[in-house]
Amino acid sequence: MAIAKKYLTQIKVAKNTNSTYFHRPFMVETGDGFAPSCIYLDCVSVKLLFRLDFYMNNRRRSPFMATKTLGLDERLYQYLLSVSLREPEILTQLRQETARLPAANMQIAPEQGQFLALLVKLLKAKKTLDIGVFTGYSSLVVALALPSDGKVIACDVSEEYTSIARRYWQQAGVIDKIDLRIAPALVTLEQLLAAKEAGTFDFIFIDADKSNYDNYYELALQLVRPGGLIAIDNVLWSGQVADPQVQDNRTNAIRALNEKLHQDQRVTISMLAIADGLTLAMKN
Ligand code: CA
Repeated sequence: MAIAKKYLTQIKVAKNTNSTYFHRPFMVETGDGFAPSCIYLDCVSVKLLFRLDFYMNNRRRSPFMATKTLGLDERLYQYLLSVSLREPEILTQLRQETARLPAANMQIAPEQGQFLALLVKLLKAKKTLDIGVFTGYSSLVVALALPSDGKVIACDVSEEYTSIARRYWQQAGVIDKIDLRIAPALVTLEQLLAAKEAGTFDFIFIDADKSNYDNYYELALQLVRPGGLIAIDNVLWSGQVADPQVQDNRTNAIRALNEKLHQDQRVTISMLAIADGLTLAMKN
């Protein structure tokens, strides 16, 4: 690094004194300052040296400049939460109650919930669909972000889990915004299409059984308006999608949808490494 810096200083001097110098070999000083020596560099090497110095300088200024998504260790994740999470008390309580259930890992992460709420506000959404309710965190976080005339159509098959959801929606004062449909989500989505609600939804969150992900996506794409957003959860599936040894139905269903979305020109996409992976697909 020090040598690159020294090269650069000398080359700059040479460049200032005689611009034609670049067409001739460079003589530059090298070594550690105590035992200097000289080498000759041609024009290509000098250009490489400039690039190297630029790279080194940027590294020095910003050692963790992101050219890829950071992996978060526990300490950094806790830091992220400590400086950004604004979780309303009701959502914290719901999360704590859900954490005691055996299926607790079906709940979305709190920072992800906050992100969904932001998206809903950005979209100025009024009509939303939650495919896979579980204990109601995602429906609640969206309902809280909606205006008073906003609506969540919430799909789930479980009376047991949604009874917890309902209790919290009631307590949060948003139960009137949430229309819970206890039925297989595919049936509910087909009913919405039959009721001519295609193209009327601003925001759709897909987070139900993974083997039906592609079916949910295709129906959601019909139901969402152009410019509206479909958010698909668990697209990184604890990393299993990248492990060729894992070949179960659910993992393969997520893989297949990920690959399809990559090529799908009906939507503009971004896959985010938030929580267990979240793909955003805006209908074109
Ligand atoms: Ca999920």
